[in-house]
This record gives sequence, structure tokens and C-alpha cells, in this order.
Amino acid sequence: RQGCKRATPSLQALQLHREPALSESSVTQRTTRLRRRRRRINRIQKKRVKMAANGHATTPGAGWAAPKYEVQVKSERFKFNAAHFVAFPGYRERLHGHNYTCSVRVFGPLSERDGYVLDFGDVKKATRRVCEALNERFLCPCLADALAITRNKKNVEIVCEDASFFSMPEADCAMLPLKHSTAEELAALVWRRVIDELGVEKLLKRGITALEVSVAEAPSQEARYTR
Ligand code: ZN
Repeated sequence: RQGCKRATPSLQALQLHREPALSESSVTQRTTRLRRRRRRINRIQKKRVKMAANGHATTPGAGWAAPKYEVQVKSERFKFNAAHFVAFPGYRERLHGHNYTCSVRVFGPLSERDGYVLDFGDVKKATRRVCEALNERFLCPCLADALAITRNKKNVEIVCEDASFFSMPEADCAMLPLKHSTAEELAALVWRRVIDELGVEKLLKRGITALEVSVAEAPSQEARYTR
């Protein structure tokens, strides 16, 4: 019983919680203040909408383009040492070699499941394989306009416009579907081969939007192919 009595609030306590009585003038003043505040908020909101429409960011990222992710894979092992010469009608380089290096960039969305655009390990494995197939070979541009390329037993024979003649074991050549063995055309070739190694199906499934391959003949000479 004593407990019940304690739970009943006293009149004094209720009075303390009662809101102070408002006079008519104070109600009018408060309404005016609230209206002013509402008008101020409306003005700010309208300004923000206008700014966003003009391309201004009102909060970080608002009004900007959708986020983009990319991964870049470079490795000591993305390299191939090869011999080549560039030839086109009216011109031929002397036979020479380069220590080529490659790098790959992959563009696409972030996977909700694993947080990757694409697993670095997969890109590394694919690119290493492509480089190995070109390493320590003569890069033979099989579609060249200015070269007559034939097979003679186990050798590849090349006759140039200036009547120069090359004969090399086919096992020492990388027979490439290129017109010229330039860094640009090699970058496009490596791009296609890396995609084949990774698997088109997999790339499509992960929503990959583009892949970039760079092939450098030297630190100062690099070609890129992106698609
Ligand atoms: Zn060269």
C-alpha cells in the first residue's frame, strides 16, 4: 500500500511539469518566429537545389559522377625480352631487341561480395602467361605489307623489300597476327590475349567496363591500348 501511495504523483510535481501559460502576444511572437525560420530554411533548400543543378557539390560526392574503381597490376615478371624490326612499305628497321615491360589496368564496379574489381592474382597469372609466350623470341608480324613471310620446313623465312633475307627456326619466333611489331600493336595483342586468359565470361559477369594494357620498349617509350 505504501508503494501505491508513492507512485501517485503529488499535485506539486504536476504543477512543476505544467507548461507556463502563454499570453496572446507571446503566441503571436512565437508564430512569427516559426514562420521566419521556415522561410529561411526554404530559401537555403532552394539554393542547394539550384547549386546541385549547376553541378556544385553541396555535400561531398553529391552531384558528381558515379564512383569509379580501377585496379592496376604491375610486376617484375610482366616482361619479355624479344627481337623485332618494324617494316612498312619503303622502310625497314634493322633487327634489334628490347626488354619489354607490361602493366594492366582493369576498370569496373566493386563487387559487393568480395570487395574486388578483379582479383590481382588472376590478372597477374594471365599477364605472366602472355609475356612468357613472347619471351626470347623474334616477334614476327605475319600480316606485314612489306614482308614476304613463308615457312620452309621448321624455319620461318622473311624476304624484305630491300631483298634482305632472314631465316629463323619457327620455335624461336612468335608468329603474331599483326601488321607491324610496334609497341602499339603489341599492346593491343597483349590486351586481347590477357582477356582470353582471364575469360570473357568472367569479365562480363563482374561487370568489367574496360581494360588497359601498356607495353614499354624502354622506360621512355610506352604504348597503351584501352578498350
Ligand atoms: Zn624496336
